[in-house]
Amino acid sequence: MGTKFVYDFAEGDKDHKELLGGKGANLAEMTNIGLPVPPGFIISTDACRAFLVDGTLPDGLRAEVDEHLARLEQTMGKRLGQSDDPLLVAVRSGAAVSMPGMMETVLNVGLNDESVVGLARTADDERFAWDSYRRLVQMFGVTVLGIEGDVFSGAFDALKQERGVTEDPELSADDLRALVATYKALVEQHAGRPFPQEPREQLDLAVDAVFQSWNTDRARLYRRQERISDDLGTAVNVVAMVFGNRGAGSGTGVAFTRDPASGNQGVYGDYLENAQGEDVVAGIRNTLTIADLERIDKTSYDELLRIMAILEKHYRDMCDIEFTIERGKLWMLQTRVGKRTPEAAFRIARHMISEGLIDEDEGLRRVTGAQLAQLMFPRFDEAAERTLLATGMGASPGAAVGKVVFDSATAVEWAARGEDVILVRKETNPDDLQGMVVARGILTSRGGKTSHAAVVARGMGRTCVCGAEALDVDVSARSVQVRDGGVVNEGDVISIDGTTGEVFAGEVPVSDSLIVQHFEGEVPAASNDLVSAVARVMERADSGRRLRVRANADTPEDAARARRFGAEGIGLCRTEHMFLGERRQLVEDLIVADNETEQQAALDALLPLQRQDFTEIFEAMDGLPVTIRLIDPPLHEFLPDLTELSVAVALQEQRQQQGGDPVDDRDRVLLEHVRRLHEQNPMLGLRGVRLGILIPGLFVMQARAILEAAADRKAVGGDPRPEIMIPLVASVREFDVIRLKIAQVAAEVAEERGAVDHLVGTMIELPRAAILADHIAESADFFSFGTNDLTQMTWGFSRDDVESSFFSTYLDNGIFDISPFESLDTQGVGELVRIGTEKGRSARPGLHVGVCGEHGGDPRSIHFFHGVGLDYVSCSPFRVPVARLEAGRAVVSEQR
Ligand code: PEP
Ligand code: MG
Repeated sequence: MGTKFVYDFAEGDKDHKELLGGKGANLAEMTNIGLPVPPGFIISTDACRAFLVDGTLPDGLRAEVDEHLARLEQTMGKRLGQSDDPLLVAVRSGAAVSMPGMMETVLNVGLNDESVVGLARTADDERFAWDSYRRLVQMFGVTVLGIEGDVFSGAFDALKQERGVTEDPELSADDLRALVATYKALVEQHAGRPFPQEPREQLDLAVDAVFQSWNTDRARLYRRQERISDDLGTAVNVVAMVFGNRGAGSGTGVAFTRDPASGNQGVYGDYLENAQGEDVVAGIRNTLTIADLERIDKTSYDELLRIMAILEKHYRDMCDIEFTIERGKLWMLQTRVGKRTPEAAFRIARHMISEGLIDEDEGLRRVTGAQLAQLMFPRFDEAAERTLLATGMGASPGAAVGKVVFDSATAVEWAARGEDVILVRKETNPDDLQGMVVARGILTSRGGKTSHAAVVARGMGRTCVCGAEALDVDVSARSVQVRDGGVVNEGDVISIDGTTGEVFAGEVPVSDSLIVQHFEGEVPAASNDLVSAVARVMERADSGRRLRVRANADTPEDAARARRFGAEGIGLCRTEHMFLGERRQLVEDLIVADNETEQQAALDALLPLQRQDFTEIFEAMDGLPVTIRLIDPPLHEFLPDLTELSVAVALQEQRQQQGGDPVDDRDRVLLEHVRRLHEQNPMLGLRGVRLGILIPGLFVMQARAILEAAADRKAVGGDPRPEIMIPLVASVREFDVIRLKIAQVAAEVAEERGAVDHLVGTMIELPRAAILADHIAESADFFSFGTNDLTQMTWGFSRDDVESSFFSTYLDNGIFDISPFESLDTQGVGELVRIGTEKGRSARPGLHVGVCGEHGGDPRSIHFFHGVGLDYVSCSPFRVPVARLEAGRAVVSEQR
């Protein structure tokens, strides 16, 4: 598709989302498969991008719009805003990625003081015409002219109150005519200009506003949250209006072809009679269900079901749709592959495989590690005592406990001071987004599964219960009246269950998820539809993946759990925690030792303790590789704090001067050493291999403990597979110094207890090591990328400091979309991983290479490691299933 900016629906298809936006591409697709879509055209994202760069509409766009509008007018047999019988259009935004609630819609464009009369006459319905006009002035005022929505809704509510009615349809044509006059006055007052009467000017301003709205704060926040690029831009759809507000035989609705919460088969959705588009999603009136539609208008209902079946077959996925019925005629206004909960994602994938709609590989593509992680969240303990306040709809699963807050600002403020909060609203709107981001959960008293709260919460993976009608939320009083009695005030703790929709008073204890229980071997796959769906997908991932998955585990318990979760070894056993607690004393002894004998005595005391640590870990991982890293952190971490010890010694000195006890000798000596070892930048100081070279006894003792433990395990019939790993190596010469010492120990242990097969490898954590990996690989048996340090050392970011100090500013400025400590910076740090791997293997073909930084459990990073050709990723035990799934997905997404 060349340099043109405007496309008729008949010219596009679903595969051109980048250019046409999601909504436009799918409208085009539906048009082309013969579904009833009102005619229209799409102004492409190219036009938006040009507009965003230059601040004006690109050359030639106007002429193209003229041409497409003329064609639309011809098709419809009437001109835009024609005074006796107007063509009206909807102007709707649609980016490539759906951004619920972010971008805006203006309906009924083309109405003015004259054409409203024409519309009333041709439709033979005064009320409908004036209702349409008041909607246009209101939407145009808010979206295009930037007037606060309250200005209009306030006037609307005032009128309803004056007339003594509660529902919109109870207002008469005369009421609405008066309301239009009021609205037009409000526009003049707040925007300093009259509501434009010229239809084409309405259209142009609306298009302009859609483009502008790409850069509102709300849109930017949503994109940052969802990691959507700011550069995509949005398309604009100009669609001939069809009317759901033409009386009882008309209406509008949204629906899912399957339940987006559970994945169950069946049709789910909301329907509003005699209403227009945005009324449903906004949740401003309580809706009927799609099942009710069967009763109201059987013909349209049957047609809707027929179309939904066509869509599922065509898209081979669960779709969500928006439709309008105008006097018994059904129109499709939108469809897309529907957002769903993690539970639904797994079950739908499974069901669609069984139905023959997709194959196993496609099933694997349809779920994500992030969704699996969510299924592994704890749930409320069924056995716990709990006080049910209300039951709404489970709109987004999870178990959330927190203090009630009633607005976004309070949510943000309380969350910033570390409180867990539940945002409670009648219904949410896009202004609540910040509060929804920081809240543990979201609770609304109105609206259905397709309300703003539900859609956005599902997108964010935030727990949400909506439509809990037994709760009367009074935001100004900052309290909730519970129907069956009782009041919940701001700051009170509640618990909400996003699966069942239950709302409980106080804090309900949580229990393990079913999926975790399954991985633990406690719940068989066949016992439950969801568990079996997960199990089947995992099987497919495991059988296809090339990356092995190991765990970062330092204790026998963690090792055993990791193994139950499917770990194929330990990729990183950190040993530092083994020197804390009671053993800290022995480390102090080692450091303050005056001579070699004292030093050796401290090491001798540590040896059997270390040996025992390793024996238990080898036992838990019998038959699988266990990579043990020799001690890494700066020594001062094992010593008392410099300031505290200085104060303690100073106090003792003061007491001594006043005739009290003399200063404790050990404290005095210890202080000397703490001072000696104090560093300005400990992360760049005496740690890792440097420590092993300065105090060789420590590494030697650890190597001995590892090899003795392995020999002992062998002696009792075990199958230990030790891999000794040296941290923070920058030069092959550092590595060789240590390797030699380990070889000596190995020879001694072989003499004493029998030989043990083992490997000696290195971490690659420094840029120099990656760049000189070919040299290091001459000596090292294996590599493991320590991407935490590698990120720290490549960016020069102190990993302990930067995330809390300036990363949020970096994210705000788009310097990166996500912290490079969370997801690998594939461009920079990733390039070092690639170079290190390639160079390492050039010197030692087949060199075994893994990664053990936090990135080993991050989905995006896992796909990268797969691409670079690593042998395994290693991550925390709880992430192991996620890594297995993503390693499998990396293969099938590559194949597509
Ligand atoms: C790393 O640097 O990536 C690593 C795994 O080591 P640590 O986080 O213990 O420094
Ligand atoms: Mg490290």
